[in-house]
Amino acid sequence: MAAFSATISDSSRFLSSTSLPKRKISASSLSPQCRSFSLPKPFPLSRLNISSRLERGKSFTICGQASVSDISVEKTTDKVNLPKGDMWAVHKFGGTCVGTSQRIKSVADVIVSDDSERKLVVVSAMSKVTDMMYDLINKAQSRDDSYISALDAVLEKHNSTARDLLDGDDLATFLSQLHHDVSNLKAMLRAIYIAGHVTESFSDFVVGHGELWSAQMLSYVVRKNGLDCKWMDTREVLIVNPTSSNQVDPDFLESERKLEKWFSQNPSKIIIATGFIASTPQNIPTTLKRDGSDFSAAIMGALFRARQVTIWTDVDGVYSADPRKVSEAVILRKLSYQEAWEMSYFGANVLHPRTIIPVMRYDIPIVIRNIFNLSAPGTTICRTASEDVDGQNLDSPVKGFATIDNLALVNVEGTGMAGVPGTASAIFSAVKDVGANVIMISQASSEHSVCFAVPEKEVKAVAEALQSRFRQALDAGRLSQVAVIPNCSILATVGQKMASTPGVSATLFNALAKANINIRAIAQGCSEYNITVVLKREDCIRALRAVHSRFYLSRTTIAMGIVGPGLIGATLLDQLRDQAAVLKEEFNIDLRVMGITGSRTMLLSEVGIDLSRWRELLKQKGQVADLEKFTQHVHGNHFIPNTAVVDCTADSNVASCYHDWLRKGIHVITPNKKANSGPLDMYLKLRALQRQSYTHYFYEATVGAGLPIISTLRGLLETGDRILRIEGIFSGTLSYIFNNFTGTRTFSEVVAEAKEAGYTEPDPRDDLSGTDVGRKVIILARESGLKLELSDIPVQTLVPEPLRATASAEDFMKQLPQFDNDMAKERQDAEESGEVLRYVGVVDAINQKGVVELRRYSKTHPFAQLSGSDNIIAFTTTRYKEQPLIVRGPGAGAQVTAGGVFSDILRLASYLGAPS
Ligand code: ADP
Ligand code: ASP
Ligand code: MG
Repeated sequence: MAAFSATISDSSRFLSSTSLPKRKISASSLSPQCRSFSLPKPFPLSRLNISSRLERGKSFTICGQASVSDISVEKTTDKVNLPKGDMWAVHKFGGTCVGTSQRIKSVADVIVSDDSERKLVVVSAMSKVTDMMYDLINKAQSRDDSYISALDAVLEKHNSTARDLLDGDDLATFLSQLHHDVSNLKAMLRAIYIAGHVTESFSDFVVGHGELWSAQMLSYVVRKNGLDCKWMDTREVLIVNPTSSNQVDPDFLESERKLEKWFSQNPSKIIIATGFIASTPQNIPTTLKRDGSDFSAAIMGALFRARQVTIWTDVDGVYSADPRKVSEAVILRKLSYQEAWEMSYFGANVLHPRTIIPVMRYDIPIVIRNIFNLSAPGTTICRTASEDVDGQNLDSPVKGFATIDNLALVNVEGTGMAGVPGTASAIFSAVKDVGANVIMISQASSEHSVCFAVPEKEVKAVAEALQSRFRQALDAGRLSQVAVIPNCSILATVGQKMASTPGVSATLFNALAKANINIRAIAQGCSEYNITVVLKREDCIRALRAVHSRFYLSRTTIAMGIVGPGLIGATLLDQLRDQAAVLKEEFNIDLRVMGITGSRTMLLSEVGIDLSRWRELLKQKGQVADLEKFTQHVHGNHFIPNTAVVDCTADSNVASCYHDWLRKGIHVITPNKKANSGPLDMYLKLRALQRQSYTHYFYEATVGAGLPIISTLRGLLETGDRILRIEGIFSGTLSYIFNNFTGTRTFSEVVAEAKEAGYTEPDPRDDLSGTDVGRKVIILARESGLKLELSDIPVQTLVPEPLRATASAEDFMKQLPQFDNDMAKERQDAEESGEVLRYVGVVDAINQKGVVELRRYSKTHPFAQLSGSDNIIAFTTTRYKEQPLIVRGPGAGAQVTAGGVFSDILRLASYLGAPS
């Protein structure tokens, strides 16, 4: 019989905990024989009735239930009437506010500096303590010995905090109380350990200690600051009725009566009250359930008819979405009671959902404020919230978004449901019978199916209950199925003004569609304060970010991935860096580079790369390049609705990804000619995809760098003009060479000069071969509607036949002079007929042909007037027949090419809705 023993040193302490003044302690509780008990091992659980009531004054037996009825408070004070009304300010400090000794000091400072006539302070347990207490119980209940060391950790946390904060008698009294409580808890946990079982009231009794300790410590600190205050064990005041749905309903009348009594015995202008804990009408300790201190504060606010309830926490107020999930969330300055309720009900745990009702009754505003940022004004929750605050448009239809995870959908379906009264009632009464909490319901008007969401952990019981309740209907085929869809989440969109604003849900669903997110169920109540959608859990954060950005970000925020930070890519990044602020401020265009990838390393960012440091960041923080991962990052995992990949390479592998990117809704912008000059069917597929979807593909810089060539051609075609011929000097290098080959120097000298000036590729044969010009010609030909392959374009190469295989660029340059005579002769012939040589590309739309060759032009022809490395392109069309439309200007170089890409990005922004 002596195998297990638990010791309770003071049963009345066990029941009431902590130092209540003038408490009568029953003599029996102190008698040695009552201090321990033992149980046989293993003790049959059925014999442990942990839920029966502990009789007043009896020593602890395992058949007890914690009760505060035993707290007999002998009070002799004359009755003092409880003052109510505006003179009271209620403050509630959450766990994070009292998480350390330093923070408790800051809380005391806030209390001291509030000059309200009377203050009631509700305090939570130190952060993590309630979790630790629940953990103790779970450990003890599952017979895990480590509950002892876990309890020691709780003791140590409070011990060291108290030592930091208090001294002298205060410290001694608090520590003695703390040790006392802990030794009682130890005994109690031991009993739970032996029983392997715990009742709710035992559990509530244990977990409430966090609040008891924090309230006492805070009250000592406030007193140390020179203010007189009393601490209140709210189990003596707050009376609540448990309900079937793991909630409690306050009994306001009884609580008021108890409060009056308490106050008459503890009249004080400052009261520090425990949050979270309360008693049942039978005086059994209970709690207001997790996060219930907010609710405590609201009830207290209502009981005192306070002027305001301030909820102090660790964020600046209520955000438009959980700031841990959406980094772009904004603080909402004002919310209506309904909006706050909907936000909190649907998962914004900054406020307990039940906080609203008590204060709403008396029109008491709630203000959510940040203890760590006193300068932030916070969020005010009050009856109407429509006036403008600091330019924030409070009339905006959508205020915020919240999510609930770990849900399952239950779908009851069948043709036999239509028109049969009572089906819904039968379904929900079966659900009620298993005690499950229905979070949302949706029924199609065909009445063919009813679908509802319940917490995942309750779905098994719900499904079984429904199967059994509808067995007959299922067997008869009147119901086809009771289906469970696991792994769901709810995304709720909240805003009072949604009620009268058309198009909100369209915008919402459009944002979800653009993010490629499938909606499983929808509910919008007729109050229209809330649109709730059920999604796959894995899509939830992406969905939240997509809808949030749709309503809160500039419509033209674009997430960009830059592929190839070479010469053009790097120049583009620098241009973006220099222009970003102006674009954002003046044009409301927010361009965020979320990733940069080279062939070996890539740099990814969650919020946007700091472009003033991208080079060093790429070096320091770069990871191994992986184009698939890169795309997924840029497109998939962030809060920005639009994605564009900018391909600044000349790589055909990258070009082969465009189709896939466009299909995924990623816009593509590129100066890379490989896709459009590659196989015709690939090009046609890309263009078809571009036309079918709202995804954009821009490639202005593939021809003539920053010159408006593709856009001019498009403009002509789209306005109904017909292209007859496009002829032009498309190579900056060859333009330079022939503009300077005037007879004063040999051809090879001019090529060498161009090479030195950096106008040529490292191997000038790449320019002289004409392939690049051929690619530009094919791009323009296809753009004009010609269905040609690159091989259909004859390209005259300027690399002499014997030098084509020459090993190095250097060898080539050395040998080139041997061929100067041929070129000199051609030039001479032209000169003699008043002409010049020009290397041109031609699209002959009439004959459906293209060609790249060296041609002679009269000295009066516009092509003959060129200087430097300019490009010139002449469009001959039905409208521009006599005089071609000519575009001329620098058509090569990193700055102008990057500029061309940049203007495509801005074109994309304007297609997406940026102002012009
Ligand atoms: P306390 O301990 O002060 O009661 P809680 O952790 O219960 O604090 O609530 C505050 C937390 O709620 C914030 O730190 C924040 O991460 C989270 N939260 C979730 N949704 C929102 C939201 N919409 N606005 C503000 N905070 C939110
Ligand atoms: N301490 C309790 C909890 O963590 C109550 C609260 O902090 O609101 O749930
Ligand atoms: Mg909270």
